[in-house]
Amino acid sequence: MESTNFSTWLKNMELAHPLVIAGPCSAETEEQVLKIAHQLKETDATVFRAGIWKPRTRPGNFEGNGAKALPWIAKVKEETGMLTTVEIATAQHAKLALEFDIDILWIGARTTVNPFAVQEIADAIQGTDKIVLVKNPINPDLALWMGAIERFHKAGVKNLGAIHRGFSSYKKTKYRNNPQWQIPIDLKEKYPTLPIICDPSHICGERDGIFDVCQTALDLKFEGLMIETHFDPDNAWSDAKQQITPSRLAEITEDLRVRKDRVEEKDSLKKLTNLRKEVNNLDQQLLDLFEERMDVVENIGKVKKEGNVAILQRSRWQEVIQGMINQGVEKGLSQEFIEKIFKAIHQESIQHQERIVNS
Ligand code: PEP
Ligand code: MN
Repeated sequence: MESTNFSTWLKNMELAHPLVIAGPCSAETEEQVLKIAHQLKETDATVFRAGIWKPRTRPGNFEGNGAKALPWIAKVKEETGMLTTVEIATAQHAKLALEFDIDILWIGARTTVNPFAVQEIADAIQGTDKIVLVKNPINPDLALWMGAIERFHKAGVKNLGAIHRGFSSYKKTKYRNNPQWQIPIDLKEKYPTLPIICDPSHICGERDGIFDVCQTALDLKFEGLMIETHFDPDNAWSDAKQQITPSRLAEITEDLRVRKDRVEEKDSLKKLTNLRKEVNNLDQQLLDLFEERMDVVENIGKVKKEGNVAILQRSRWQEVIQGMINQGVEKGLSQEFIEKIFKAIHQESIQHQERIVNS
């Protein structure tokens, strides 16, 4: 599978770069669907998305109109000429979507995690020339994502692509679904000819930040964007906080910087960009860890305050720094570097504890 060549459907179909897929989280009513589609005609979006079977995390929310909405989506194509895409989660969904000539079928994050479900869908659409886009699984597991893509490939689906929608985590971050860019970058490494679309809406979970995530995706050479769009986002029946209006979408795509593929562009430059992103990502993680460390240190400070114990425990500090030096040297880091960095961390920790103890 490592050397798999995927069809160059983006080029063959003369689809725009970046490919912009837009439309509401859910198809709510026929009027809503058509109104959004006509507004999107004035933007760079060339593919209309709408969820008609909605995989909701908890019951009791709007779960979509189901097959009843398929003729509405077909009407979008008829009236606007846009390509259309819906999420399919079962073999039955797949059959219905094919009957209504939906152009692109996407597999949701909650489906990708389940090899049985993926295989059933793959069997149901064997050999189709429709485009199938596989979202990443909700958990950060590259092999599971690749496995789902592989099942469709083995079923003779040639026009494949992936959608990066971020990964869920129990710990609250600034994202609804943490992008963990290294994972789609690794997917690109494994399958260089597989187009990857970024879904900033489900990564951000709110309108703020969508532009930045789109820009990062383009900087990482993603082939397209899938952005949830509604004429009245606040009153959307699902994912109200993250949807944007078609006019905001137009502003965003206008401001995005698309790095052109220059023929003379060196392979090494591309690699450099990816490696720098990787470094930024790691630095971000370092910062998050420092923050977490200071939280723990402050709790130690509280205990010291209660027990009226001195902040600096010399023997403990000697033990910590010596242990780090030994381990660091083993990892190929210089003693000087380890000393510097842990002294700085220690200094910062003392300051945080001072604040607690003397408050
Ligand atoms: C969606 O695109 O509306 C959706 C349900 O996404 P995900 O599968 O990424 O949660
Ligand atoms: Mn949604």
